[in-house]
Amino acid sequence: MIPAAPAAAAARGARVPLRTAIFGAFVALAIVAPQLPVPDFWITQANYIGLYALVAMGLVLLTGIAGLTSFGQAAFVGIGAYATAYLSTAAGLSPWLNLPIGLALTCASALLLGWITLRMSGHYLPLATIAWCLALNYTMANMEWLGKFDGILGVPPITLGAIDFTEGRNIFYLIWGAALAAAVALANLLDSRAGRAIRALNGGVVMAEAMGISTFRYKVQVFVIAALLAAVSGWLFAHFQRTVNPSPFGIRWGIEYLVMAVIGGVGSVWGAFAGAAVVKLIEDQLQVLLPALIGAAGNFEIVVFGIALVLVLKYAPQGLWPFVSRWVPTPHRARDWADAPLLAERPRPAPGDALLDVDAVRKEFGGLVAVNDVSFAIRAGEIVGLIGPNGAGKSTTFNLVTGVLAKTAGAVRFRGEDITALRSREIALRGISRTFQHVKMMPGMTVLENVALGGHLRVRSGAARAMLRLDRADERRLFREAERQLARIGMVEQMHELAGNLALGRQRLMEIARALCTDPVLLLLDEPAAGLRHLEKRALAGVLRQLRAEGVSLLLVEHDMDFVMNLTDRIVVMEFGTKLMEGTPAEVQASPAVRAAYLGTEH
Ligand code: ADP
Ligand code: MG
Repeated sequence: MIPAAPAAAAARGARVPLRTAIFGAFVALAIVAPQLPVPDFWITQANYIGLYALVAMGLVLLTGIAGLTSFGQAAFVGIGAYATAYLSTAAGLSPWLNLPIGLALTCASALLLGWITLRMSGHYLPLATIAWCLALNYTMANMEWLGKFDGILGVPPITLGAIDFTEGRNIFYLIWGAALAAAVALANLLDSRAGRAIRALNGGVVMAEAMGISTFRYKVQVFVIAALLAAVSGWLFAHFQRTVNPSPFGIRWGIEYLVMAVIGGVGSVWGAFAGAAVVKLIEDQLQVLLPALIGAAGNFEIVVFGIALVLVLKYAPQGLWPFVSRWVPTPHRARDWADAPLLAERPRPAPGDALLDVDAVRKEFGGLVAVNDVSFAIRAGEIVGLIGPNGAGKSTTFNLVTGVLAKTAGAVRFRGEDITALRSREIALRGISRTFQHVKMMPGMTVLENVALGGHLRVRSGAARAMLRLDRADERRLFREAERQLARIGMVEQMHELAGNLALGRQRLMEIARALCTDPVLLLLDEPAAGLRHLEKRALAGVLRQLRAEGVSLLLVEHDMDFVMNLTDRIVVMEFGTKLMEGTPAEVQASPAVRAAYLGTEH
């Protein structure tokens, strides 16, 4: 409807080099630092910070971004460290061979732990990770072959050809190389199809599933990725220290890693470096200061960190990073997708074909019958209205058809297939999409990214390809489609805005674009015109008619009667959960029963 605004997009895209420059400076410093006359003490500190940052950035992804808390990352560090320490001393294997073995062990245990706990909601994961960390630490400390409390001594150095990574400051490069590479990979991941799904795990699960995204699968993925980063840190740690023992892999360290992630900034991968540095440097000071103050020896710093954690969560829940990133403009991806190939569309049914058959669906909430054996059908190429007073059960009917809620009884068929028992994600896959009466979106993502969530199933690139930036062709196709759908509803100019900053009416339009991005055959819109001005409503009606002409069928809940009467082919009227009548707009308007229902009088 409204042409794209490439100039504005390009101007925003131009900011990217500044951020790249800052990152470049960071890398340059890391390369030069060991060459400068910096005291060994500080190089060693930097090594620890790099090792901790590796673990902390996994937690940023897991806890900060996906909203899943783990106290057990230290256990995965332990697996990486003990695997290489044991294999290189007892079996004489090369550290380079032990790394993949340690990662495989970590992956297997993370998969098992994730598989069991991530389906369950709430506190199971944190509790399970605490138990896991305690159990593994106990095992390390009691196994004869792992050296019990003394651990394993004489771990050999890592070498690469003639380079000995224990000599001089060589290990610094290895640690910081790994940490920076991991940070880049994670930053790439977050700016990708898989990354948007991961970001939606925190507060957007129902919406993501309705867009066809398997949230469970992405939860397991982030849990495994975070565990693998911890294991890499453990591998480096073992060869850096040349010895391992159980104490750095206990629950105390599990908590400290979490503190680093939280202090650094739960929303940014780069915050992990800040968090690791702050915790490491303050901890060293406290270890000297606190016993002197208190007059007794002990690990009092953990108490201080506990208090700091509570304060940060209360007063700076985004951590330290926002204070830094204020000076670094947020990049917008340059609009490079204008000529990307269009995504494939699914075949549309012929007009008049049976499409949706809702057969006596019922929903009870305790004693309340919200939907009382309601039946209706939609044929391909129809716009059907679903109207009724507030509380009539319209939105619940939507939730039953789209699988967001389980049905108490009844059946739903779509294109001849029984979809009654399918989950919302499986129904989305078959070509039914929807919007929500109460907008469900990711307020911290741009409009374009929110809409791209709808196209998730139409491209394939996963997390690994995203980390290596091999997903750009898919991304361009996806973003072209997202922009195309935004253009259709007249929102291209707002595509780079944060969705949370939009007016409510615009957020509803954005949801329509997102639903269209799924390439639906049937679209369910729950009060799409609410909050729109008159002209916007007219434009929306035009878009919906255009969709019908393209073979998309619509089921529409709407309170604006002019809008409904002018647009729909047929109307189903509900009252108190029950279907009152069904007919053409003219028949419905003429019905005394419908008038009575809306006026609230007895009939
Ligand atoms: P409508 O969309 O027609 O306004 P709804 O489908 O939202 O109506 O609600 C129908 C009835 O079901 C209302 O009485 C509402 O309070 C109730 N209801 C809806 N969702 C729930 C729920 N999750 N738990 C309990 N009651 C609900
Ligand atoms: Mg409703």
